[in-house]
Amino acid sequence: MLDTGRTARRLESYVQGAWRSGQGEGKPLANAATGVTHAFIGSDGIDFAGALDWGRDVGGAALCGYTFHERALMLKAVALKLMELKEEFYQENFATGATRKDGFVDIDGGIGTMLAFASKARRELPNTKVLPEGDVEQLSRDGSFVAQHILTPLSGIAIHINAFNFPVWGMLEKIAPALIAGVPCLVKPASQTAYLTELVVRRMLETEILPEGALQLICGSVGDMLDHITGQDAVTFTGSAATGHKLKAHPAVIANSTRFTMEADSLNAAILGSDAGPDSPEFDLFVKEAVREMTVKAGQKCTAIRRLIVPKAHEQAVIEAISARLAQTSVGLPEDEAVRMGALASISDRDGVRDKIAEIAREAEIVWGAPGDVILVSGDAEKGAFLNPVLMRCANPLSARAPHNVEAFGPVATVMAYEEAEEAVTLARMGKGSLVSSLFTDDLKVAQNVALGLAPFHGRVMLGNRASAKSSTGHGAPLAPLVHGGPGRAGGGEEMGGMRGVKHFMQRTAIQGTPRLLSAVTGQWLEGADTQTGEHPFRKSLAELRLGEQIVTEARVVTKEDVEHFAEFTGDTFYAHMNSAAAKANPFFEDRVAHGYLIASFAAGLFVEPNPGPVLANYGVDNLRFLTPVYFGDSLRVRLTCKEINPREAAVYGEVRWDCRVTNQRDEVVAQYDVLTMVAKTWPLPEEV
Ligand code: NAP
Repeated sequence: MLDTGRTARRLESYVQGAWRSGQGEGKPLANAATGVTHAFIGSDGIDFAGALDWGRDVGGAALCGYTFHERALMLKAVALKLMELKEEFYQENFATGATRKDGFVDIDGGIGTMLAFASKARRELPNTKVLPEGDVEQLSRDGSFVAQHILTPLSGIAIHINAFNFPVWGMLEKIAPALIAGVPCLVKPASQTAYLTELVVRRMLETEILPEGALQLICGSVGDMLDHITGQDAVTFTGSAATGHKLKAHPAVIANSTRFTMEADSLNAAILGSDAGPDSPEFDLFVKEAVREMTVKAGQKCTAIRRLIVPKAHEQAVIEAISARLAQTSVGLPEDEAVRMGALASISDRDGVRDKIAEIAREAEIVWGAPGDVILVSGDAEKGAFLNPVLMRCANPLSARAPHNVEAFGPVATVMAYEEAEEAVTLARMGKGSLVSSLFTDDLKVAQNVALGLAPFHGRVMLGNRASAKSSTGHGAPLAPLVHGGPGRAGGGEEMGGMRGVKHFMQRTAIQGTPRLLSAVTGQWLEGADTQTGEHPFRKSLAELRLGEQIVTEARVVTKEDVEHFAEFTGDTFYAHMNSAAAKANPFFEDRVAHGYLIASFAAGLFVEPNPGPVLANYGVDNLRFLTPVYFGDSLRVRLTCKEINPREAAVYGEVRWDCRVTNQRDEVVAQYDVLTMVAKTWPLPEEV
């Protein structure tokens, strides 16, 4: 579909509960592949300070009223709606110069990231508004003064300033963790491709799933917004190092110690292991990955491979193999199915990349591709931001500067050779900190030495070899459960990383006090807090069960016959249970001891209430420790206390965590663990279940 420009729309910002266009006509934004005006953008006249207050006061207040699970379910519902509507986004995506395949990374990748966060949050976070973290710290001998770390949402707003290359993923990977944390978001997409972000935000808001104020959008400049930020806000920036450094040094960011996460440029490397000769599968994988990274999104990916570090002996073979593949890369209009690589995001970006190639070429030679001319299968080279892939070779990489420092944000990479493995690590480190490096090897020693050498300079290291050829997610794909970000030049930030990413938008606080007071704050029972006994707590549904409800069982003596029966029955005839002399020779035991799992099994036999009731299943134990040996004749008793109650949204049950403590006749703790159960919200269960 040719973009005629007649449909060019004025982009709007969504602030303070309404869509608002800035004053005036706005700045034209060109379709990257045709040069025709696609949209107009501008935010003059928008009340930026008012938008921040609206987010904090209206969005923040509303989000804080929900639990982690409720917020995660909202995100899931929004993401599923976006998935239904994605074809519309794919059509709009063509204007950015990206092909349909490129769009997959941004659109499906972004929605998938949101879904992954929504699902991980419900699996890994409690269904509460406060997140306890780590163990209770004993601060007094008698246990009357303890501490617990907790995380609570920042009471400000998260401002997400994004780069042009991922208008959808860039937004969704940032708002997902912030919204789960309970922090409202204001998104500022890069102007060049803001039309796609605007469309997605419109569709998200039309669902009316998110509370008002949870998500705002500024299309255009953010004006004086940063002047109004506070210490409760967070800024996440993705873009060039130059802009990032400027914003990080903004007086209000410094004065308020505002959290500032920066994801900047990165000269990521891929290393071919010294073991991977031209006939090896790893050589092939390396070449394919290099070409994919150069050409997907026309190389405009923060994680794209810029430096190809290869053994000297295979340098020529690598250049030939990559060049042969690049020769088959058809360049043209992104919606043309015959096209493999579309356009860069704008003519000025293309010209910028050409300038960067020229800068690198002062210390490297071009071995494939002509940056000045472009051969197209469709489209107009004069009007669209097209560029051929360009492969360069640097003969003296250890002394060169530009190939390690100049980021040509397009389909460009430089081959550089190494003699020894340490040299490969040195070269990779010359990027001064990157988002990701990959290593292609099937040699264990190479994997160990190189990966550990790369690790301090990278947020992610991918090892590629024949065994993961089909399953690998690849060098370039940041994944929701994994950290995205890198040290040094890459910005020093961290995003995503599963629930770590959620914590970036929360304040960690050490709460000190008596167990009773702490329990009221954290919503978890802890040792020393109030307890109640009475009816067996397994007889209680979630509607009746309370934290601290407890059962202390009768005692049971462990006999030699019990241990031998268990050993024979399970096959666990480990000498410490069976052979007195061998057990005595062990530094931990005075004689034969009971199996730890026998203790846990007897404990269950002591504490369960056997009749059908609200406890539906035991799904595991956490933190199981056997602390004191149990000898024949010892007598065990269990104390089971309701520690945490997590009703599950949209289910007839919830999870209950029980503190389980097994003691002997001297009141020594022999085993300690959390028992995990699923308990009905009401009992009997509703009939339709
Ligand atoms: P950019 O020019 O630095 O712009 C980044 C963002 O900052 C845009 O939204 C831009 O808005 C905004 N901005 C510029 N000046 C601002 C100011 N004074 N106050 C507030 N916001 C301001 O970067 P880009 O050209 O869009 O992106 C390309 C770069 O991003 C590359 O270097 C790439 O490596 C990097 N990148 C990194 C990652 C990562 O995850 N590490 C991901 C993608 C891209 P306007 O567009 O309206 O000017």
